[in-house]
Amino acid sequence: MARLQPVRGTHDILEIKARTFDYIVSHFKAVAERYGHGEISTPIFEFTEVFKRTLGETSDVVTKEMYTFEDRSGEQLTLRPEYTAGIARAFISGGMQQLAPCKFYAYGPMFRYERPQKGRMRQFHQIDAEILGVPEPQADVELLAMAADFLREIGLLDRVTLEINSLGDVESRQAYRDALVVYFQEYKDQLSQDSQERLDRNPLRILDSKNEGDKAIVANAPSIQDYLNEESRLFFSAVCQGLELLDIPYTVNERLVRGLDYYSHTAFEFTTTELGAQGTVLAGGRYDKLIEQMGGPATAGIGWAGGLERLAELVTAEHMPEAHRPVAIIPMGGLAQVKAMKLAHDLRLQGFHIEMGYRGNLGKRLKRANKANAVAAILMGEDEMARRVVTVRNLDSGEQQEVALSDVAQALQPYR
Ligand code: ATP
Ligand code: MG
Repeated sequence: MARLQPVRGTHDILEIKARTFDYIVSHFKAVAERYGHGEISTPIFEFTEVFKRTLGETSDVVTKEMYTFEDRSGEQLTLRPEYTAGIARAFISGGMQQLAPCKFYAYGPMFRYERPQKGRMRQFHQIDAEILGVPEPQADVELLAMAADFLREIGLLDRVTLEINSLGDVESRQAYRDALVVYFQEYKDQLSQDSQERLDRNPLRILDSKNEGDKAIVANAPSIQDYLNEESRLFFSAVCQGLELLDIPYTVNERLVRGLDYYSHTAFEFTTTELGAQGTVLAGGRYDKLIEQMGGPATAGIGWAGGLERLAELVTAEHMPEAHRPVAIIPMGGLAQVKAMKLAHDLRLQGFHIEMGYRGNLGKRLKRANKANAVAAILMGEDEMARRVVTVRNLDSGEQQEVALSDVAQALQPYR
């Protein structure tokens, strides 16, 4: 029955995938804390305006990707497609300007109505880091250092490339925009339908087009680097110098623009060639005008988001900690069954991982213990129960010993 399928573009996450997500998130949290970021958790839905006004009326996300609905009281709400707008909203509505600079991190599910394919889902997960209230380029460097540090910890830094660019300040971007319009006008008829519309409304977006024909035209478009004013140039070179000081390798990609409207100055992406077309694993940039534009106090901002699914695709087993190996309790007979339930409970209270089969003979239960990758088994037969002992078997070596029921916890210490 079709309705019992997961919704297109959504997935159930379990076993190794769940552990990989957990591994990535726990390293992310530890690194973020080290850089002085505190956790923020914003709601999964916001008023539609929060996203519509900030991401830009012409952005892909707003024009075709938002999950928007009306709730029972007629409010227009949207499932968050990204974190920054929600965090900026929280900064404003929480009156946090008194506390600025604020450094946040967050992680959780995002929702975009996209065409599902490898590395592109309708519900996906992001980790996210933001610094609000720091207009200096040091924040850009620090946030990039944190991203690189995190990627190093999960074993990915040498498999990705950091590409950066500057989108300049408002003046520089206006000059560049004019130059782009002149350039693209000449090829207007050859541009994709989407890009023809972008030409009128937001020509920078054409640079981000995934259409092959567009890409060929974009290849010879003017470079923003030639349109940066003095201030923007200084800002960008301060960021580059900071990266060099910290030995963080990067390449300048003059065509790199980001899909959302709110960026200025620094834009960056960590990309890989290992994932095919969906090669950007972590991306972000500076958004100095966003909070003001939303109606808050003028506050600079910079942030990035990483896609958990894409990162998880790259993480290899060798970097993951081994799953914790349980101890299996295997009772045989009615009396043993009762004793086993009590023993399992006592051991769990002491912090042991205990696997309890519910039924089956000895052979079946041992098989299940092996399947659970149990490190040891506690065998409890009727005869042993009468003598108030159990047999503890090391499932790797096969070695076993008889242990008094009262000493089981002691005997299990090596298997903790
Ligand atoms: P793309 O160009 O791939 O569409 P984007 O610019 O829309 O990316 P961002 O908004 O910058 O992506 O999101 C940050 C990261 O989140 C991306 O680099 C990617 O790793 C991940 N991501 C974005 N959209 C999806 C999706 N639909 N499914 C899975 N991961 C995604
Ligand atoms: Mg996208």
